[in-house]
Amino acid sequence: MKTNVSSTRRDFLHKLGVSAAATAVAGTQPLTAHAAVRKRNIQYAMLIDTRRCTGCHACSVACKAEYDVPLGVNRSWVEYVEKGDYPNVTRNFLPRLCNHCDHPDCVSVCPTGATYKREEDGVVVIDEDVCIGCGYCIQACPYDMRFLNPVTGTAEKCDFCEHLVSKGIQPACVETCIGSARIFGDINDPTSEIAQMIATNPVSVLRPDKGTEPNVYYIAADHSGEHERQRNRYVRVTTHRKQKIRR
Ligand code: SF4
Ligand code: SF4
Ligand code: SF4
Repeated sequence: MKTNVSSTRRDFLHKLGVSAAATAVAGTQPLTAHAAVRKRNIQYAMLIDTRRCTGCHACSVACKAEYDVPLGVNRSWVEYVEKGDYPNVTRNFLPRLCNHCDHPDCVSVCPTGATYKREEDGVVVIDEDVCIGCGYCIQACPYDMRFLNPVTGTAEKCDFCEHLVSKGIQPACVETCIGSARIFGDINDPTSEIAQMIATNPVSVLRPDKGTEPNVYYIAADHSGEHERQRNRYVRVTTHRKQKIRR
């Protein structure tokens, strides 16, 4: 197994024209297996270098402002991962947003076709005119990246600021990031900054075991909050189901 992964990874690096091999880290999804199945010409993706993230939340605020996101819900946010006991404590930051997965669970469960992955650029979007607010996609997303907008009653999440990107402008969170921690671009273009960075750095994705093949990558991400996140998610989903049954 290890030999196959290494071999495909080398193929991918070769395709990119990069000679330096990136080192794999724990929790890292083999980039090569991911890239090998791509058929689209363009696949937008984001790379977040957590070493450069200060946890300032400028990105979360920019996202809220860009979409007029109501109070209590977020398209994008920054998770704090805190460990240890005083005085030996650490705090790391993990910016979160929709992963625009290659195999998105949210799409397969949607009964109306309101949510889909765009052929032209791989962005997972929601057509709010077709969405009936059933919430299936919200429960299906393994990353908790969707919510029901309390004003419109339809599902919502990050769409990589498609209205800006189509005009050649970077997503609001990228434009705003004070630490230049976020890099956005076409991962299928071997000359793009994001493709080069991913090829030459150890990167990871959230929950590679889910098989969704995310398109948001991290450098030096602390995944230790994963257990807590899943536990909280289980409690939230269970509560949501109970409420639905009671109604
Ligand atoms: S992160 Fe969740 S909402 Fe986004 S594409 Fe993947 S499964 Fe769908
Ligand atoms: S809430 Fe909307 S997008 Fe989500 S599954 Fe239901 S119809 Fe589809
Ligand atoms: S704006 Fe940049 S540095 Fe600030 S929290 Fe967001 S990703 Fe981190």
